[in-house]
Amino acid sequence: MDTQVVSLALERLKKESLKSALEINTSVRRIMAETLISKGFLEAPPVIFSIVTDPLNHPVYDPSFMYGDYKYSLTKSMIFHKQILVQEIPKFFIFSPNVRLETPDKAASGRHLLEFTQLDLEIKNAHREDLMELAEELYVKTIEYVIKHNSKALESLGRKLKVPARPFKVYKYLDLQEKYGDDFEAKMSRESSEPFWIIDIPLESREFYDREKDDEPGILRDMDLIYPEGFGEALSGGEREYKIERIRERIIKKGQTFEQFHWFLEIAESGLELSTGFGIGIERFVRYICGFKRIEDVHPFPKVPGELSL
Ligand code: AMP
Ligand code: MG
Repeated sequence: MDTQVVSLALERLKKESLKSALEINTSVRRIMAETLISKGFLEAPPVIFSIVTDPLNHPVYDPSFMYGDYKYSLTKSMIFHKQILVQEIPKFFIFSPNVRLETPDKAASGRHLLEFTQLDLEIKNAHREDLMELAEELYVKTIEYVIKHNSKALESLGRKLKVPARPFKVYKYLDLQEKYGDDFEAKMSRESSEPFWIIDIPLESREFYDREKDDEPGILRDMDLIYPEGFGEALSGGEREYKIERIRERIIKKGQTFEQFHWFLEIAESGLELSTGFGIGIERFVRYICGFKRIEDVHPFPKVPGELSL
């Protein structure tokens, strides 16, 4: 068994397609970082583990450990650190490694790893629409850059990419659900040839920290960007709830406890201002650009749900 893991890993490293994927990975990280830096963003280092991390809205195995008397968790996302940091540093990004010990059934999606990197960013006093514009610019610039600088890699992968037209189409979550049923995201993704937005996501489908609309209770001011050709979700983001009494209400509504988030609540009590951000999965973006069936083909040492990996 162990020998097979090693031989499969060595086989993976020798693939020509891995080299092409890494060339594209290099371009994706470079052009996105350069674009953000040119707009005045600062790059912050990642938090790899912490006493507080994202509760997530779906079950994963618990990646926590004790250090002295305190329980730490590996970072599932840097959401709370972003919301705290943005109060002082109004525009920043992080290449943030996330560990999400997803259940083995997730392997079937072709887009879940147990360990991946988000380009995670946050802006103070910005609104959802500002971030949607920024995401579109990053997306289009990246595709243009890759077409220009990685034409050989794309050719060897047999991948033809076209630059999508802006602005991307925007759909409301509940409208799509009514029209296409619960599987609307996958269905729309399969049938689209351009990326598109899903906005106004219902409160119960997301975590407590996303901000509810003032004029439409139960609906959040957040957004998902979806890849075409069946590649599914590219990024999630939204405006953050910043009023302490509303944060508390939302935690209760989720059936969570103040104790679970007391470190964050203590900071939030001293006063937060509005911020908005998103995180785009790098491996998923590279997978989409390469046109791979499976996300693990972009990574030299992928952690596939349910599998023993190097
Ligand atoms: P989330 O906030 O949960 O939507 O995660 C932000 C982004 O990270 C997603 O839109 C994906 O691009 C990426 N992502 C989330 N979970 C995974 C995973 N298990 N494997 C690879 N990428 C992921
Ligand atoms: Mg998401």
